[in-house]
Amino acid sequence: MTESLRYLSTRGGAPAATLGEAVAAGLAPDGGLYVPERLPTLTPADFDPDGSLADTAATLLAPFFAGDPLAAGLPAICAEALDFPVPLRALPQRNAQMLEVFHGPTAAFKDVGARFLAACLRRLPRTDARPLTILVATSGDTGAAVGAAFHRQLGVRVAILYPDGLVSPRQAHQLGCFGDNVQALRVAGRFDDCQRMVKAALNDAELQAAVPLSSANSISLGRLLPQMSYYAHAALAFWREHGEPLNFIVPTGNLGNALACLWVRAMGLPLGEVRLACNANATLPEFFAGGDYLPREAVATLANAMDVGAPSNFERLRWTFRDDATLRRTLQAESVADATIRRTLAMHACEHGEAFCPHTATAMHRLDDLREQGDDRPWAVVATAHPAKFEQVVEPLLGRTLDVPPALAAMLQRSASAEPLAAEDEALKRWLR
Ligand SMILES: *Cc1c(COP(=O)(O)O)cnc(C)c1O
Repeated sequence: MTESLRYLSTRGGAPAATLGEAVAAGLAPDGGLYVPERLPTLTPADFDPDGSLADTAATLLAPFFAGDPLAAGLPAICAEALDFPVPLRALPQRNAQMLEVFHGPTAAFKDVGARFLAACLRRLPRTDARPLTILVATSGDTGAAVGAAFHRQLGVRVAILYPDGLVSPRQAHQLGCFGDNVQALRVAGRFDDCQRMVKAALNDAELQAAVPLSSANSISLGRLLPQMSYYAHAALAFWREHGEPLNFIVPTGNLGNALACLWVRAMGLPLGEVRLACNANATLPEFFAGGDYLPREAVATLANAMDVGAPSNFERLRWTFRDDATLRRTLQAESVADATIRRTLAMHACEHGEAFCPHTATAMHRLDDLREQGDDRPWAVVATAHPAKFEQVVEPLLGRTLDVPPALAAMLQRSASAEPLAAEDEALKRWLR
């Protein structure tokens, strides 16, 4: 058995925590994000070549769980959370691959992290008899995934905060359709307001004493770690078949999905280059072009789940690469405007009959550019949501109606409701009390 890993805060002002403590807390007590004291290393030979995604996840995450009371349950947690396919599909027209991470119950990749976090929290001992309130700020997809993962779970209440009017109608319906222990709050503000309100509540010791709180945002290690498994699974399969590393283009907002990819590579597994595709919110592209890191208010775009002006995992990214010069040498990020998203969706619909979601289209545009520049390396575009969640954008460009996956269709048939909330820290705190 490997030695147990301790978890530290990116801000260096919190005591070391065990994995279980870090997962239960969400945010570190000094306001930083939990990171492992070091990233473990593995080789392809450590993995079962015939293993399922859940098997790959259990092998990959074992060193992160070593020594923690949750370790014994890890294979079962993986099997419970990762019970849907994450296929690496060939895109012959681009001589590339598409990693489809949206085949879970709410049709976006957020299901992976939400279901894994729920499976962990179900197994963590709680000394407090009061219900645990899980706060989640969402730009559209996270909230539904977390709601679905915790719906009707005893001892847990979920409060979903989303920016009113800035999510697609189907996303809004999904967010409000749960009822029971899951409450949707439509906030009169932007996603960054929702995120700030959640952080303020979690950082309020007095409130925490009155109402036990946790978070399910991408700042939670319990969501970040399982997202690593599909990158490892796809890259290992590609490596075994082709003998070379697969490169990834990741649609990026809060950097949770992209960071998971980078951590898998940093663990020594065969992944090549990683590129970030952003929407018009250019905080990251400007930083990678040599500018300062300037968090700002988000602007609304067609790829709304990426409407982030202050990417919360940036602290973890800096921790991973230690200094900005190394970080800038290692990664590239490009901003893709709404007009380009539309053009990319229309072009692929017309030439190849293919439909993607607007987020996936930002990465597809990066691939189109690379191919045009003569780059012939093996790339995988990460497809983060099913296009049917964004039918108002996609269908007019596609010229036909999209099939709705059965789980999404069932949610759309339920009634939905959300409570209005002002975009102020105090408003959420009052609501929680
Ligand atoms: C959340 C989300 C993203 C952005 O992922 P991050 O981990 O925040 O970078 C991209 N696309 C879709 C569909 C999403 O739901």
